[in-house]
Amino acid sequence: MYLNRNATVRRTPKGEVAFALALHEQVVAYEEEQGFLRIECATGQGYLEKDALSEIATEKKGILVAIDAGHQKKGNNEKEPLGPGSDELKIKVSSGTQGVVTDIPEYELTLALALKLEKELLFRGYDVLMIRTTHDVNISNAKRAEIANEAGADIFIRIHANGSDDPTDKGVLTMCQTPQNPYNSNLYKQSAALSKDLLDEIASAAGCEKMFVWETDTMTGINWCRIPVSIVEVGFMSCPEEDRLMATDDYRNLLVMGMANGIDRYFNP
Ligand SMILES: [Zn+2]
Repeated sequence: MYLNRNATVRRTPKGEVAFALALHEQVVAYEEEQGFLRIECATGQGYLEKDALSEIATEKKGILVAIDAGHQKKGNNEKEPLGPGSDELKIKVSSGTQGVVTDIPEYELTLALALKLEKELLFRGYDVLMIRTTHDVNISNAKRAEIANEAGADIFIRIHANGSDDPTDKGVLTMCQTPQNPYNSNLYKQSAALSKDLLDEIASAAGCEKMFVWETDTMTGINWCRIPVSIVEVGFMSCPEEDRLMATDDYRNLLVMGMANGIDRYFNP
């Protein structure tokens, strides 16, 4: 059983609070007493309101979503081809931006979001492939695409945050290839649909400004994909207001719900 919301565990039914349970935390439930269930989880045991629990969908969707938390602790300035067979070279993975007020590096924000999205998608019955789960990795943008390709993922979500010289720039933006992309234009339609669904649903869930789907062939991380792909720029770390928001757990949860809703909508238009 998994929890479908934050809840408190009590020492006895209706008794004092023992500890808090997080969203999606796994618990084992035993007998019922006075409308409470005796439960056990990693933190300990106690009594939980019966309606706080919901059964996880036992039926898997059979859909594999690859999630890339953009960037890594140290950028890698070596170069790699912009796309398969290209003479144009781009650096393998940049160090990313950082919060203008919070100083939070982009690679930290993206991994925090990716780990939340993994939990949410598993909860909804998807299978998930995480490109990285720690900061101390060295995986180029092309390699990240190759990992998702080779795993047979159905879609690839690459999570990033934006930066701009104009501190008033804010909102969510998503990216995909153009219909003329020399490497994977065959994936344009699906990638554009995925990018639009993500854009709409993130803006709706987070209540942030909705920018647009930027169609571009300048991204190594898109060009090497052989599966539908979208780069999600969740917000601007250069905007003080948005930087502060993105540092909070509540706002991160909203962004992740939006991403998961966008993925749901892509597969069930
Ligand atoms: Zn980035």
